[in-house]
Amino acid sequence: MIIHKKHILICSVLIIIAAILTAWRIPVSSVHLTSTFGETRGDHFHNGIDFGGGSQSIYAPEDGEVIYYYDRARHPFELPFGYGNSIVIAHNNGYRSHYYHLKDGSLPILTHVTNGEFIGTSGNSGHSSGTHLHLTFEDVQHKAVVNPLLFMMTNEYADCIPPAIDGILYALDDTLIPMPETLTLPAADSSVRFYIQARDKHPTSSYNIAVYKYKVEVNGELVQHITFDRLEQQNGDYAIVPKVHGQQAMRMHAFYYDNKTVSIYALNRIPGNYTVTFIVSDLNGNITTTHRTVIIQP
Ligand SMILES: [Zn+2]
Repeated sequence: MIIHKKHILICSVLIIIAAILTAWRIPVSSVHLTSTFGETRGDHFHNGIDFGGGSQSIYAPEDGEVIYYYDRARHPFELPFGYGNSIVIAHNNGYRSHYYHLKDGSLPILTHVTNGEFIGTSGNSGHSSGTHLHLTFEDVQHKAVVNPLLFMMTNEYADCIPPAIDGILYALDDTLIPMPETLTLPAADSSVRFYIQARDKHPTSSYNIAVYKYKVEVNGELVQHITFDRLEQQNGDYAIVPKVHGQQAMRMHAFYYDNKTVSIYALNRIPGNYTVTFIVSDLNGNITTTHRTVIIQP
């Protein structure tokens, strides 16, 4: 019971800090977070967040200029494409916000929007399998997309649920094997690669969503650190750039082994005893950790 109370207190403090740091309004009035930034989408990272909860009004999160607009109801002869009916707003701080899959005929004709102004209704147009709003934030100058939730944390999605780690696996070639508490291997010129299966829950929906942050420590030293705060454009695709020096940027296929399995770190098979710590956390700082021992014999 004491732990429970303490957890709620920590969570409340984090939300207050976040509310001070961020000022943008959430563009929907009813928050049902069904998909987060950086999830796998088959051949690319999900470059924004999805709000489910049925068809609802969308409001500009900040002032800006409308730089792109498409509504099939008004432009019936334009070729439809994946985003469906959509609007893109350029804001003063160098960011653009993109809204996809909007309802036919729901977009008012606008050139300038002010914070809180109605900009359309969420729908199911374009490449979409259910009524939702897809929201992308683009950092134009740095050729990146950023996690919209970093701009919009409020009490509306207070999240005190830590992510779950479902599995730690390893592979010497292409075969993934569940990792025992202690893994003993002979020394070699090659490395042993570790994989992690983790998922997060959000109080506003029943969906599994992606983990925000992954870290790996070996004998207490941080060797891998991936945070889905931004994805950077590289050769016409988006990549996640680790925050540990020397770890390479990864495109979707390098990061996700499959829908639920992430390729996280490769340990050189140099003789020694290693405590490998896997840490996952969500955007609100809820953390889950697990350890494995790796013995590399001479
Ligand atoms: Zn989406």
